[in-house]
Amino acid sequence: MTKTDRPLIVMKFGGTSVGNPERMQHVAELVASHAKEAEIAVVVSAMAGVTDMLIRAAKEASAGDRDGWKGVRQELARRHREVADRTLSPSEQAGVLPRLAEQVEHFENLCSGFSLVREVTPRAMDTLSSLGEVMSSLLLAAILRSQGYPAEAVDARDLIVTDEKFGNATPLFKETNVKARQHLSRLRRKGAIGVITGFRGATRDGVCTTLGRGGSDYSATIIGSALDARETWIWTDVDGVMTADPRLVANARIIPEISYQEAIELSFFGAKVLHPKTIQPVTERNIPVWIKNTFNPACPGTRIGSIRGDRARGVKAITSVSKADLLTLSAKGNLAFAQLAAKAFTALSTEEVDSLMVTQSSADNLLCFGVRDRDLKSVKALLEKVFELEMLHDQRVSIEVMPQVAIVVMIGENMKGTPGLAGRAFSALGKRGINLIAIAQGSSEISISFAVKATDVKDAVQAIHDEFEL
Ligand code: ADP
Ligand code: ASP
Ligand code: MG
Repeated sequence: MTKTDRPLIVMKFGGTSVGNPERMQHVAELVASHAKEAEIAVVVSAMAGVTDMLIRAAKEASAGDRDGWKGVRQELARRHREVADRTLSPSEQAGVLPRLAEQVEHFENLCSGFSLVREVTPRAMDTLSSLGEVMSSLLLAAILRSQGYPAEAVDARDLIVTDEKFGNATPLFKETNVKARQHLSRLRRKGAIGVITGFRGATRDGVCTTLGRGGSDYSATIIGSALDARETWIWTDVDGVMTADPRLVANARIIPEISYQEAIELSFFGAKVLHPKTIQPVTERNIPVWIKNTFNPACPGTRIGSIRGDRARGVKAITSVSKADLLTLSAKGNLAFAQLAAKAFTALSTEEVDSLMVTQSSADNLLCFGVRDRDLKSVKALLEKVFELEMLHDQRVSIEVMPQVAIVVMIGENMKGTPGLAGRAFSALGKRGINLIAIAQGSSEISISFAVKATDVKDAVQAIHDEFEL
């Protein structure tokens, strides 16, 4: 096979996969072993724990703590230096150590600025929180070169163009596709492997942005789509997408194949294995995404894509959002239900807040919906504002909050047309004495959601997992 007719695969490695010198070395070997039959572009996360550490340091500095971040500075330098010491040839060390030191200095300058002004803007936070990706990409590229593979670290600020929503930016795909292709084709012509920083991008003006926590998965599919890759592989620390969160259900099993739509639902409802927006860039070009385990590369993992084989009927996986709240809006008098719902959802959409489930009783003029805990304060304030008048006038609208609930979601493309699934789930919960607070089924019938008390979430997920023998 010539260099040019090898298929292109984008491979993303998560934080635990590059968490220490041995793991980084192992990742470089994995990339090298596949580089024989495919052309590879790598996307890399920060080393495990680094992003959390950077964010914590910024917050401490902006709260006026002049010393907390200094400890983080040492740790940042130590962890990356240790990788360089243990994995790189002396000549690679000589090239990379000063570049790592530059990043540490950048960290120091930013934090000392935050502690002086006692503030950290979302924009400055994005530059700081994604420094870990810059450091790990420098190291991984150098390890590959030490092993004899031409490789170059690439800053995704030069590839991914985003809007200006710092902390949770959205790519501008047209511009990104042009930039990413131009920049990476130069490397591809040289036969070099690009080791691209996950998580970050930049605005049209070149200001650093991030794609939201866990965003390196998204970076991988953005790049995969821009380069029209044959596949995108997301290497992580589990064997694939599982029938439930393995931290909640000990006997959760790997699912060999799931559809794009199922993966979208799973990630939206909290399955941490995929950033919620990961699937969006690849569906149009029909690029399969594989989830694979760095620690068990022999396992084929999960294929996410158009379903090829037998379509299993019924429930495929269960997921949950364990920190949620239910809001109930009720209207009296002549305020029609449609008006109540229209006003409430228009308000949510202007703030880009997701509602996790919705139930209604048109006859009683009741609308109930679930939101993530982190959104509760802003949603409540928003509703109080849009219904201000109605609430003043004879209390025509009231808002009630039920805190500390969990939303449990059963997912399966082929739940459609399989009767009795909801009934089975509810009686399984009933047998365990778990009280159902609300139930909703999407009209696409790809998911059925229900709310339970947050303290019941583990039991509820396990009960349904057992009932459907997943
Ligand atoms: P990475 O650092 O590689 O991006 P993450 O920690 O973000 O890895 O995601 C992998 C983790 O997602 C797993 O270790 C697992 O605990 C969790 N997880 C939650 N739900 C699922 C699921 N349905 N299938 C697989 N893993 C899941
Ligand atoms: N390092 C970033 C985070 O921890 C992005 C990622 O790992 O996907 O959120
Ligand atoms: Mg992740």
